Amino acid sequence: MPNHHPALAAGCETTWDARGWCWRIDADPWGATSVEGLAVAGDCNRIEGAEAAPHSGTLAALDAARRLGRIDTAARNRLAAPARRACARLAGLRGFLDALYRPRAEVLAPRDPEVVVCRCEEVTVAELRAAVALGCQGPNQAKAFTRCGMGPCQGRLCGLTGAAVIAAARGRSPAEVGYHKVRPPLAPVTLGDLAALDDPRLGKAALGGDTERRNNAATGDGG
Ligand SMILES: Cc1cc2nc3c(=O)[nH]c(=O)nc-3n(C[C@H](O)[C@H](O)[C@H](O)COP(=O)(O)OP(=O)(O)OC[C@H]3O[C@@H](n4cnc5c(N)ncnc54)[C@H](O)[C@@H]3O)c2cc1C
Repeated sequence: MPNHHPALAAGCETTWDARGWCWRIDADPWGATSVEGLAVAGDCNRIEGAEAAPHSGTLAALDAARRLGRIDTAARNRLAAPARRACARLAGLRGFLDALYRPRAEVLAPRDPEVVVCRCEEVTVAELRAAVALGCQGPNQAKAFTRCGMGPCQGRLCGLTGAAVIAAARGRSPAEVGYHKVRPPLAPVTLGDLAALDDPRLGKAALGGDTERRNNAATGDGG
């Protein structure tokens, strides 16, 4: 699933993609989103593989250069041609792969009531269904009912599954029940990170230097 939390936190508009079973950031062919000056590239919006990701980055960068007045539209289009061709070639197989390896419905919206949906807060399918029975309409309300999506990963792992379970319990589509609001910080931060914000000598190291560790903490990978 695309990691679209940073774009959501920035306020980008999205559309539900029923085939890909995920929310897509609304973006033009250059990756430009509904938020002025913000573009998406690579897997954060569409899983197209490691080879395609840098090409979509090239397209976004060329459009950024045009927006900044460094190149004109004709130069952008000319310079983009190789990346555009590569993207088209690499995307050719995507529909087939998505159809062939589509996860089973049971994986996307587990039916077993004992399945743990939110690992951070240990919220099960049964607890989400109970919340729906009490009137919970969607993932945002589910936070208040159950704390689903309120742990260290902030819904990065359980967001879509939680929404799918609620949608199934309500007899609606995930598009109708929506997705939870994503707010910064996008990864767990330590008190040291926050304390270093005012210190120009420490701020960069504390906030930028250890992203991998914070991401691993959020996803449960590594140390
Ligand atoms: C298990 C696995 C196997 C794969 N196998 C293949 C394969 O065989 N062939 C293939 O073509 N593709 C494969 N892929 C897909 C491939 O890895 C991706 O298509 C490719 O890495 C996308 O590149 P990207 O730059 O868009 O994203 P990424 O490579 O995921 O880079 C995103 C970067 O952003 C960082 N980041 C995320 N959130 C934040 C944040 N909040 N703040 C700061 N930094 C952040 C991450 O740490 C990461 O360094 C595989 C993927 C996985 C997970």
